[in-house]
Amino acid sequence: MKWRGRKRSSNIEDRRGASGGLFRRSSGMGGSGFRIPTGGRSGGMGIGFIVIILIVGVALGINPMSLLDGSLGTGTSGSGSVSRPLPEAGQDDLADFVAVVVQDTEDLWTEVFVENGMTYEPATVVLFTDTDSSACGLADARTGPFYCPGDQNVYIDLSFYETLRSQFGAPGDFAQAYVIAHEIGHHVQNLVGVLPEYSRAIQSMSEEEANAYSVQIELQADCYAGIWASYVGEENLLDDGDVEEAINAAEQIGDDAIQSRTQGVVIPKTFTHGTSAQRQEWFERGYATGDVGECDTFSGAI
Ligand SMILES: [Zn+2]
Repeated sequence: MKWRGRKRSSNIEDRRGASGGLFRRSSGMGGSGFRIPTGGRSGGMGIGFIVIILIVGVALGINPMSLLDGSLGTGTSGSGSVSRPLPEAGQDDLADFVAVVVQDTEDLWTEVFVENGMTYEPATVVLFTDTDSSACGLADARTGPFYCPGDQNVYIDLSFYETLRSQFGAPGDFAQAYVIAHEIGHHVQNLVGVLPEYSRAIQSMSEEEANAYSVQIELQADCYAGIWASYVGEENLLDDGDVEEAINAAEQIGDDAIQSRTQGVVIPKTFTHGTSAQRQEWFERGYATGDVGECDTFSGAI
């Protein structure tokens, strides 16, 4: 993706290396004392954090919407796909890259909202290191990036991009851009009422029903990410292989792919984000059409 020297969003809050973080949190929730036993699974502490986030989020009616739902595991590395990592990507380069992507999402969604007689209010993207606090609970690098409807922030520890590349086999700058575009997609859902309705409705659902609803929410965010990719293409900012990088990322983080990698068994009723095939398909649909009207994941069209 052509991004160097381009306009960067001002809606980035850089909290990286904020050493006061632990002290700030010590008087609130989410300290290590709140760790929840997770049945001895490896990586349990990370899962404990996720549980905290989910519990707090549900209690407040503000479920965090993540790219992965914290399913970071010990994935295999390497996919053999075309890779275009950011050259010598230091974190400052990554931060600039993220800010350019966020600016592009703002340009796109401002336009779409105006077309629909609405006003787009941008999200803030919070860059943090290791842990941070959010209105949805503790943000932890190990849970992956997420959007918190309660404070309308996207949270991302940039080290996740290394995880995406090495553990998930999803390298390339456009895979990284897809992550941001997906989370901003959740912000769009929040603004138009999709997330508030979801938070309300799942209160009276079984876990299985709520999971199925979550899949529809996540696939729509993937479709919105595809619309963003379409917009970037119209602006002639795509490099060869960009779209393939995003599609590969969508494949690598499908629930079935993650579950088979991390637990060796696939349990469809526990899916919260959709299968690899579904995630690819909805991203591609958004990319092919560039039309939000094509992102109705709720009517069972696919
Ligand atoms: Zn998501």
